[in-house]
Amino acid sequence: MSKAIRIHATGGPEVLKWEQLPTPQPGPNEVLIKHEAIGLNYIDIYFRTGLYKAPLPSTIGMEGSGTVLAIGDAVQDFAPGDRIAYAGGPLGAYATERVIPADRLVKLPDDIDFKTAAAMMLQGMTAHILLHRTFKAQPGQTILLHAAAGGVGLIMCQWARHIGVNVIGVVSTEEKAALAHANGATHTIIGHANLAADVKKITGGAMVPVVYDSIGKDTFTPSLDCLAPLGLMVSYGAASGAVPPYDIANLATKGSLYLTRPSLATYVATRADLAISAAALFEIVAKGAVKIQVNQTFKLEDAAAAHTALEARQTTGSTVLLP
Ligand code: NDP
Repeated sequence: MSKAIRIHATGGPEVLKWEQLPTPQPGPNEVLIKHEAIGLNYIDIYFRTGLYKAPLPSTIGMEGSGTVLAIGDAVQDFAPGDRIAYAGGPLGAYATERVIPADRLVKLPDDIDFKTAAAMMLQGMTAHILLHRTFKAQPGQTILLHAAAGGVGLIMCQWARHIGVNVIGVVSTEEKAALAHANGATHTIIGHANLAADVKKITGGAMVPVVYDSIGKDTFTPSLDCLAPLGLMVSYGAASGAVPPYDIANLATKGSLYLTRPSLATYVATRADLAISAAALFEIVAKGAVKIQVNQTFKLEDAAAAHTALEARQTTGSTVLLP
């Protein structure tokens, strides 16, 4: 038998139920894994609340690390005992054991422990694609980053500094500002009440070529107002709620702006792209330029408490659930 956190209905943290289930058997192209650690991500909250749709009942969760227990008949690249990690669909990470398509797994380098792996795969590959593919950030550029002390945020701050990019990090408290600074943010702004004016002051009126906005509803318009002409708005999350329908004519009047709503899933859909992002992440972590900060751990069965803390903005860096 295995144990899992499942939802039978969408709603608050109380819909997360700790249940016993038969251990699943891998299909021909699947692998059965035993989790050592599971990553907590904001997307888990979107599935729990129903902002993103999951079939019911579902075991939620999109990221984990562990060891291979068994493989399907057609699997060639993995064997029982392999240390592995993954990020992205299909749902099902909040479990002691799970099956997953073999082509979604990567082998874990020996020098990366399970907790770090579970903390970094989804947030770290997101940082990689945001900084290198969604917008190719160049040394000397100044970028605007919301939730700079969060999971994705602290990785982005460090990775940007490593490639010579200046970060203006937006956070909600002095403590989070200090943390973002310590991780490489060049400037910080506390709150977004005067966002465009603050960015204007910091950039001497130039504004920024890109905004990475994971907050959504509360910050969408203020973020657009921080962009230089022809700038790119990267709306990649909705921590404050979904962005309402928007009149794109405003993109013209605000300076012929570009807008994208990227999803990591698109960028790592092929095995080749997944391998590139995972390798880039392993490399930057191995050389110490990005340090993964697991600032909170919870027992998997206490996932509700972890969700409550993440939603209440009480976490910094990454959070891991331990089975
Ligand atoms: P974080 O650790 O960044 O936590 C969310 C943070 O958002 C909070 O700590 C808080 O920071 C900030 N925030 C601002 N407004 C609110 C609000 N109303 N309610 C809650 N939090 C708020 O989470 P993750 O690192 O897991 O994810 C960061 C974002 O990136 C999420 O929006 C997520 O959906 C997105 N994401 C998108 C991906 C994609 O493929 N598009 C992939 C991975 C993540 P503060 O207190 O400083 O304001």
